[in-house]
Amino acid sequence: MTTDQQTVSAEEARKRIEDLTRVVEHHRFCYYVLDRPEISDNDFDKLFHELEALEHQFPELRLPGSPTQTVGAAPSTEFKSVKHRIPMLSLANAMSYDDLDRWQERLVRALDNARHDLKYVCELKIDGLSIALTYKDGVLVEGATRGNGEVGEDVTLNLRTIAALPERLRPVTIDGKEHMPSLIEVRGEVFMPVTSFNALNEGLEEEGEPTFANPRNAASGSLRQKDPRKTAKRKLSLWTYFIYITDEHVKQPITHFENLELLKELGLPVEPNRHLAASIDAVKQFCKDWDHKKHDLDYQTDGVVVKLNERFLWDQVGATAHSPRWAVAFKYPPEEADTIIEAIHFDVGRTGAVTPVAWLKPVKLAGTTVKRATLHNAEQIRRLDIRVGDTVVVRKAGEIIPEVLSVKVDKRPADSVEFVYPTVCPVCSTALERIGNEVVYRCPNAFGCPSQVRRRIEHWVSRDAMDVDGVGESLIDTLVSNGMVSTVSDLYRLTEEQLLTLPRLAKKSAQNILSAIAASKTRPLANLIFALGIRHVGTSGAEVLAEKYQSLEKLAAASAEDIAGIEGVGPAISVGVVEFFHHPQTARLIEELKQVGVSLETLATEETAPLAQTLAGKSFVLTGTLETMDRDTAEKAIKRRGGKVSSSVSKKTDYVLVGASPGSKLAKAQELGITIIDEAQFRQLIEE
Ligand SMILES: [Zn+2]
Repeated sequence: MTTDQQTVSAEEARKRIEDLTRVVEHHRFCYYVLDRPEISDNDFDKLFHELEALEHQFPELRLPGSPTQTVGAAPSTEFKSVKHRIPMLSLANAMSYDDLDRWQERLVRALDNARHDLKYVCELKIDGLSIALTYKDGVLVEGATRGNGEVGEDVTLNLRTIAALPERLRPVTIDGKEHMPSLIEVRGEVFMPVTSFNALNEGLEEEGEPTFANPRNAASGSLRQKDPRKTAKRKLSLWTYFIYITDEHVKQPITHFENLELLKELGLPVEPNRHLAASIDAVKQFCKDWDHKKHDLDYQTDGVVVKLNERFLWDQVGATAHSPRWAVAFKYPPEEADTIIEAIHFDVGRTGAVTPVAWLKPVKLAGTTVKRATLHNAEQIRRLDIRVGDTVVVRKAGEIIPEVLSVKVDKRPADSVEFVYPTVCPVCSTALERIGNEVVYRCPNAFGCPSQVRRRIEHWVSRDAMDVDGVGESLIDTLVSNGMVSTVSDLYRLTEEQLLTLPRLAKKSAQNILSAIAASKTRPLANLIFALGIRHVGTSGAEVLAEKYQSLEKLAAASAEDIAGIEGVGPAISVGVVEFFHHPQTARLIEELKQVGVSLETLATEETAPLAQTLAGKSFVLTGTLETMDRDTAEKAIKRRGGKVSSSVSKKTDYVLVGASPGSKLAKAQELGITIIDEAQFRQLIEE
């Protein structure tokens, strides 16, 4: 759909520019931030050039911040202030069941003692970040943080990276007709699932970056990233719980519970454990039940929000200066306990990062016995002035690693001395270093430090790496302390005689261990690259590198620019790779791996080995279900012959292979006049 420049009126141009600006902005976002383009580059260029041409013809109609003015740059968040149309109030707290009773009494009094049949909606209180979303005609136009309740910050772009948050709402059906309310304001809570939080912290720790104390801080830090691409990687999620509708057809439902259902109907995520309670006693029961069940959730909840279900009474009940009277937040007591720090030990990871760990007098907390707590880093110890022998407050929530919150200075023993952070590695006595602005101290003795050696071997044998079955932490510990293994290549030189000298190791187990080690010699290249433990290179980075270079030696010879130029590889990875291969020990390691017979390149198996390049340079798109082969097989057949497979049809497509019940790609191919082939023709083509 190209606009004819000669005949377009200013009014038409204005509309088209508005549309194009929105569409181009959307696709730029999909491409740069989400890394998930929805249209081909070619189609994008067409839209972009159409917008450019129109703006050139009608410069006065160009919208502020038009994507044509920020070409090439990834979208970036500007935290401009947003005034909330409806203030975001905070809720009064109920710290006990008695508080809930008193809250109900006040409620009944505010209604002139006329109502004794009130119902309540119980919703789990999510420990995250409150946000306000505005949808105009069903399209998300603005998202803001709570801020001070009156004015928040515009975080629209960052919110758009949250997969659970719909860009467009579904219309509601009233009397058989679909309606999209013209203006909707939604309130919700952005949070980081516990699993994402733990993965994030593990990654940060590995890279020597400061970790987050809890999912709430992590969610807040992620949502306020200047670069939405970083937010996108943080795997945030969202539940919504309030809606304000301005529309002539769609009326606000009169009960809160129905409003939650309406949110769902519009396609917004609503926490599934909500409950309509017929009395305040039923509310208490709900709170009691979830005190135990909450640990099974993948998100953190610190209480239950209780709201008067009869929304039409909210105005009558009113609000205090600080909070509405129709809602209250029941808070669970914090999962904290006092205990004593018996010692401070240090963990030296495979990258040399030194993490202080408090050894505690065992204490019962959140259903488990806690014996260790993380002290994060030297800064944290200094800031809290943590000392051995101190009585401290420890917090544990769900699956989060316990942490030391504060020190009870009044209980400090008289002979207490300030904790002195070690200047040398607690394992190998090498002087510790700090790189750049890192908060973490590292042991630089990468190849000699027994702790790093152990951790590196543990990483090498792990499932996503070389996947060596039966070689676990304790065996590695024994092998390293006995001097049998000091590099990963030593694993491959182990003999049965050697293993049999170890205590409690039978002949059969020794043989199993050796065959598992031998089997790991031929893992895919991506596993090998990941197993090497190069800084910043995770499993997906390793896959991209393996795909591009096909052999470890080619990767070792690649320049930083070359690596950074690969799609999906950032500068951190390229620097990490180059530094790793520059290390003289790495060259020795590769040489040794080669000697012991570890495969260092992509294995040419029957399925992937290249054939005569009969389809070189040809681009294929597949649509529909094939009868005699699956899609994967067809794609491999194309790639082995030098062809390319892409996901969308464009002018550059040479063939569209069509199976049963094809999608819209077929129509697109017909429109563009691309050669369409069926399965039989495809077979002929590949057998040529
Ligand atoms: Zn060390």
